[in-house]
Amino acid sequence: MAENLPITVGGEPSGAGDSYGSCAEIIGLELDILGKPVNLRIGVGQGQARLTDIVPLAQAVCTKITDAVLERIRSDGGCIPCRKGCSACCSSLVPLSVSEALRLREAILAMPESQRRLMQQSCLLVAQRILKRKPPKSFVAQTAGTSPNSLDEGNMVASWYRNLNLACPFHYKGVCTIYEQRPLACREHFVKGSARACKGGRGTAEEVKMPVQMVAALAQLASELEGTGVEAVMLPLVLVWAQENVERAKQTWPAAMMVERFVEIVKVMASKNSTAVITQT
Ligand code: SF4
Repeated sequence: MAENLPITVGGEPSGAGDSYGSCAEIIGLELDILGKPVNLRIGVGQGQARLTDIVPLAQAVCTKITDAVLERIRSDGGCIPCRKGCSACCSSLVPLSVSEALRLREAILAMPESQRRLMQQSCLLVAQRILKRKPPKSFVAQTAGTSPNSLDEGNMVASWYRNLNLACPFHYKGVCTIYEQRPLACREHFVKGSARACKGGRGTAEEVKMPVQMVAALAQLASELEGTGVEAVMLPLVLVWAQENVERAKQTWPAAMMVERFVEIVKVMASKNSTAVITQT
């Protein structure tokens, strides 16, 4: 386990093989996801943490939840055709939480120059194409970093974006070039049914709805910590947005307080959706 990180993530609370020696506190997260227990141990340092520091924890929780949901669907006889290399959904609108947007910018800036330039150019190209088209009213707020005010507005923006038929700027030759850093919305996007249907062919594909969406949990956390509205950033606009909001990556809060609040948010969201139907059309 890496040292000097304010927040570190372990697995099941077995105790064996864990290395939390440098952590001041261990916080447990226990969830019931569709009847399956999901447990994580979170090591928290004594110091301060930035918004970006909580993203690996959200990714770990996301993996645990999606594994539990997919296992349940498969055990019920459902087919999940999603595979690494399938990019049928990579032209959809991908919302990022503020924490992810700031962290992704840092990851891109840390890449070798040639790779970084390609990504910057690709993002700029897609961003220009987005901004040239006449967006729905709520889009203006969203590009400024504010979520649509209602589900209807969110659906309208998603539908408008789909019609632009834009590939993700990080998609290259059938591969996600930021796979290890890909957004939470990509990590928790799965369909049940036929992959052919995702590409406009025969059959049906239903989107799997996760009981807790980590993007929403992170967005709420950032909103509470910063005292802002709940925000989302469109993926192709991430570099432009993050550059304008770079100061927000510097602000810190006590790591323990940040993790405790994140755990509470996730638990409340999970309990609200504990009996939710796991697919939506
Ligand atoms: S970030 Fe990767 S997984 Fe997500 S839409 Fe882009 S190419 Fe696809």
